Amino acid sequence: MIRVGVAGYRGKVGVEMVRGVEAAADMEFVGGVEVGDDLDAFLAAARPGALIDFTHPTAALGNGLLAVSHGCCPVIGTTGIPTAGVQQLEDACRAAGLGGIVAPNFAVGAVLMVHLAEIAAPFFTAADVIEMHHSTKADAPSGTALATARRIGARQRFQYSETEKLTLAQVRGGREAGVGVHSVRLPGLVADQEILFGLAGQTLAITHRTTSREAFVPGVLLAVRQVTAEARFYRALDELLGL
Ligand code: NAP
Repeated sequence: MIRVGVAGYRGKVGVEMVRGVEAAADMEFVGGVEVGDDLDAFLAAARPGALIDFTHPTAALGNGLLAVSHGCCPVIGTTGIPTAGVQQLEDACRAAGLGGIVAPNFAVGAVLMVHLAEIAAPFFTAADVIEMHHSTKADAPSGTALATARRIGARQRFQYSETEKLTLAQVRGGREAGVGVHSVRLPGLVADQEILFGLAGQTLAITHRTTSREAFVPGVLLAVRQVTAEARFYRALDELLGL
């Protein structure tokens, strides 16, 4: 049994993680911490083998380093940790002989969507990314949409067709690496993305839809199993899936 703790266990993603860990036959949920709780004391008392963190960018790195100091593998989904911080965590894991992961997207389908788009990109002449999120999302475009545009743009020099006359400002969206990027914000959505490729006489659409935050659970559970089994550090779920 893998003993698993969750930092941010009452958060929107954290509650799904607790449910997912409790339902996993090979894992035991040993407790969680929220803002104001003593993580150091929790780690000492509950002795988790892995700590899942879906908290806040200002807290996640410190939580991960503290976990490592207790011999506990960090599995961090919180976004916004600076590159230097991720390096610090990797160094700490290596020094302690522990596995760990910091991944900006734990949805297996989203990671595969980008991978499949990278395969398709060289065969098409133009591409657009349309991302759709809940209306309370703080930023636009999503980090995944921007990363998608950069990754497919690195595989192909896409042609972007300018429009002669725009009758509504910014209606063509943004542009990154020759790829049009569009953000839709609506209540009722969680996190969807479509990648549209164009070529003479045809289009190809690759779509990932999220219906709930449970979408992040399978990828996190895979990561918990992997990092507790092997002392290796991952910076993305793609790496762990061998893509
Ligand atoms: P949320 O609902 O605000 O949940 C965050 C939780 O963490 C809250 O319960 C918060 O408590 C708690 N928290 C904040 N600082 C803490 C600390 N120092 N120690 C322990 N708990 C702390 O946010 P969310 O939607 O679940 O998202 C959390 C993070 O995950 C965000 O960075 C988000 O971008 C990221 N995310 C990543 C993925 C991925 O696939 N990698 C997917 C979805 C979301 P309070 O409410 O009291 O502040």
